[in-house]
Amino acid sequence: MVSNLPSTTSFPDVTIPWYHQAIASVLQTFRGDEKQGLDPLEVAERQQFYGPNEIQGGQGRNTWEIFLDQFKNIMLIMLIVVALISGLIDFAELRAQALPEGTIPFKDTIAILAIVILNGLLGFFQESRAEKALAALKKMSSPQVRVCRGGQILEIKGADLVPGDVMFIEAGSQLSADGLVLEAANLQIRESALTGEANPVTKQYRPEGLPLETPLGDRQNMVFSGTEVLQGRGKILVIATGMATELGKIAQMLAAVETSQTPLQKRMTHLGKILVTSSLVLVFLVILLGTLQAGNFSNLKNLIEVSLSMAVAVVPEGLPAVITVTLAIGTQRMVKRNALIRKLPAVETLGSVDTICSDKTGTLTQNKMVVQRLETPANSLTVTGEGYAPMGNFLLQDTALDLAQHPELQILLRACVLCNDAVLRQEAQEFVIIGDPTEGALLSLAGKGGFFAETLQATWPRLGEFPFSSERKRMSVICEMPPGEQAVEDKPYLLCCKGSPELVLERCQSYQTATGIFPLEARDRAAILQRNNEMAQAGLRVLGFSQRYLSEIPEAQAEAIAEQEMVWLGLVGMLDAPRPEVKEAVAKCRAAGIRPVMITGDHQLTAKAIAQKLGISDQKAQALTGIEISKLSQPELEAIVEEVDIYARVAPEHKLRIVQALQHRGRFVAMTGDGVNDAPALKQADIGIAMGITGTDVSKEASDMVLLDDNFATIVAATEEGRVVYTNIRHFIQYILGSNIGEVITIAASPLLGLSVPLIPLQILWMNLVTDGIPALALALEPAEPNVMQHRPFNPQESIFARGLGAYIIRIGLIFSVITIALMAYSAEAYPETWKTMVFTTLCLSQMGHAIAVRSRTQFTFTSNPFRNPYLIIAVVATSILQLMLIYVEPLRLFFDTQRLSSSQLLLCLGVSCLLFGWVELEKLIIHWHWTRKNPSKSR
Ligand code: ATP
Repeated sequence: MVSNLPSTTSFPDVTIPWYHQAIASVLQTFRGDEKQGLDPLEVAERQQFYGPNEIQGGQGRNTWEIFLDQFKNIMLIMLIVVALISGLIDFAELRAQALPEGTIPFKDTIAILAIVILNGLLGFFQESRAEKALAALKKMSSPQVRVCRGGQILEIKGADLVPGDVMFIEAGSQLSADGLVLEAANLQIRESALTGEANPVTKQYRPEGLPLETPLGDRQNMVFSGTEVLQGRGKILVIATGMATELGKIAQMLAAVETSQTPLQKRMTHLGKILVTSSLVLVFLVILLGTLQAGNFSNLKNLIEVSLSMAVAVVPEGLPAVITVTLAIGTQRMVKRNALIRKLPAVETLGSVDTICSDKTGTLTQNKMVVQRLETPANSLTVTGEGYAPMGNFLLQDTALDLAQHPELQILLRACVLCNDAVLRQEAQEFVIIGDPTEGALLSLAGKGGFFAETLQATWPRLGEFPFSSERKRMSVICEMPPGEQAVEDKPYLLCCKGSPELVLERCQSYQTATGIFPLEARDRAAILQRNNEMAQAGLRVLGFSQRYLSEIPEAQAEAIAEQEMVWLGLVGMLDAPRPEVKEAVAKCRAAGIRPVMITGDHQLTAKAIAQKLGISDQKAQALTGIEISKLSQPELEAIVEEVDIYARVAPEHKLRIVQALQHRGRFVAMTGDGVNDAPALKQADIGIAMGITGTDVSKEASDMVLLDDNFATIVAATEEGRVVYTNIRHFIQYILGSNIGEVITIAASPLLGLSVPLIPLQILWMNLVTDGIPALALALEPAEPNVMQHRPFNPQESIFARGLGAYIIRIGLIFSVITIALMAYSAEAYPETWKTMVFTTLCLSQMGHAIAVRSRTQFTFTSNPFRNPYLIIAVVATSILQLMLIYVEPLRLFFDTQRLSSSQLLLCLGVSCLLFGWVELEKLIIHWHWTRKNPSKSR
């Protein structure tokens, strides 16, 4: 049955292009039904036939490119050079038959090259995984589409669309299929992704199709996958999905998944360059000094070996892998707390956020609206009922009102239904809405008065509309009146308008009562605004309603003329309760030095009432409105931006100015947004946050992070995770780099003490990768410290080595080398057979103690819970066992050039190793002592 549909592959060969055909014939070809949509059974068959609506492939790097990219790292290049030089020396010795007995030739070369390849492979697998994970995350935030199937309006995944579907699009939608326009209301689409044309294109219903020669950019009766709806609404017949769309045909248009390097990764690349350069300088110095000391080149071989070992020691081979793993773990932890990371750098920079600018509706509040009050010009009514169920009463001073006696109320309720795009539906025991909750609440309100969308919208067909946008803050529809309803002669059309009360009221000239229509005097306007303010002060979200009769349907752009001289109908006040968890989250923010700021399109008094309830501001706080912002120059805005906690009645362009002003004052800003026009502000913010449930596709595309539950508390949770990630990264960097410095200095000191090189490259690689790498990975898994949200955010400009970290690394490196050199000097005398193995063992074991102590800069190890991070215990035990195996298991001993240690020698190494642990704990004691001297009254 399905097989005689146009096939995906035949699409490009269609003899008559769709845009050139009459809509009726296209509908026939696809067996589409404009009113009912496809039958669910037919949908399943078509999904089989056409496959999922997905673009395959894309521009991302291919497997080879990812693999080769791993070797562009300067540190790996240096290791390759070291391997080659070491190989050349072995080769020369082999030829001169001077290789010491029992030595395996080319062992170091092979080992180093193996490490290089292993490192490359590790990086490769991690990056491919990261790319896949990000692609999967991207899929999770992929568009939902509203369709009509089997006569019902449903929300489905974009990937489930099939040709023949009837879909609805609106401002903010990102299209995921090509289609023909069945209906369009001021439908403006940005097609730059496809045609390069930056200006929006207006789409229209063209029942007869367009001329054959119409180029892609001018096909006004078609919409295309990958483009964005900027304004208006439309009903579309899907005609191509997946690879058959215009976008699919030019698959390279698909933006590559973003796996940009994080600031930290960039800094590490930079650090690599510094390390390589400094090691080259050191190598040069060692050879020069060693030769000068000896007075000839007799010692050259030993000096070259020392240099090679130093070059290997200076490279923190394990570090890149640990960083990648930490960031990956960070994204996983965040997604568990409902924050979906879209751009990797956000994981680490979230810890620096010091200002969170949040929308009100849905983020701070529940976005579950219930109408509680109605204010017609003559009456103040209370509305009862819960949730979206259309059941409840209209009370006038506690007495149920008889609607039949109040035609003005009936007109208002009718406007609630006609000027509405939401759908209210009963699912099991519950009433749910599809669409905007504000409009859902209006449908439920009208239902309580016996006005239902199914009947009203059919008898009053909508012929035109001026859609809602955050800039207009209102919406109007134009309906044809049913016969017999005509109220005014020669005016067969009714325009209903709803929106921000101030804006609607200023477009009205008269008001409606039960007895007729009266002119609006100045005092009537003042009285209406007064009632609006009272409701807003009580925290209600208020909408104003009006209507007018028209003699003809206005042009699409004629809103300024059509929305004038209207008749005022009344005010509707709905409750949108704050989310219960937000108050605590706000308090947490404050303790953490993060300032929450409310930016809303709603009325300033409503905004203030909610902000006070949540602790965002106190009673004295002033709200700055969009109009006031417009009057301020940017420097003037910058001057006050630090004092204002509430911005009300703002438009998206104000949001952009607010972020810029805050950033100019040195703030690191996270900003939420959901609308299509919020995208510039989201991009400008340091962390752009889109709403997962109510957000438009365009806002999600522009964001760094998506809130899966639209909840403010989730932003705070993600910030906390960001801080944990950053702190852990600092922990293991100080752990790994301190060890590298210790190794380098120990090796450099050996020729100065007249000793041969204590560590061969293989042992150094072992230390850097295994005995340093494994505990470092465990450090990355450290849970949050209890005080993580009790200190100020990290300065985003600070170097990773700031706040004493660089000094710590150098200090620990020095202490580490002093301890090891002392042991080296003693054991070289006392145990000439085994001293090298003792140095090797001491270096490794010292790092175990260091790993345990480094977890906190202030908390003593013996007073903290040892099982807080069980991975660290496992890592330390496992690594110590591995190290002992290198000394006591025969084949490993031979391969790693170690000697069996006696128990007293091993104990000596262990004792000396404890010194490093003792030193770090001593530092904590000094910090503690210093702190209590400065703050005698407080205990830590
Ligand atoms: P926030 O910016 O915190 O999400 P908001 O939802 O009030 O708050 P907008 O969506 O920009 O912000 O709405 C601005 C104003 O437009 C609202 O306060 C309301 O007066 C009006 N409004 C909101 N939704 C509609 C709608 N569906 N139809 C008509 N007017 C609306």
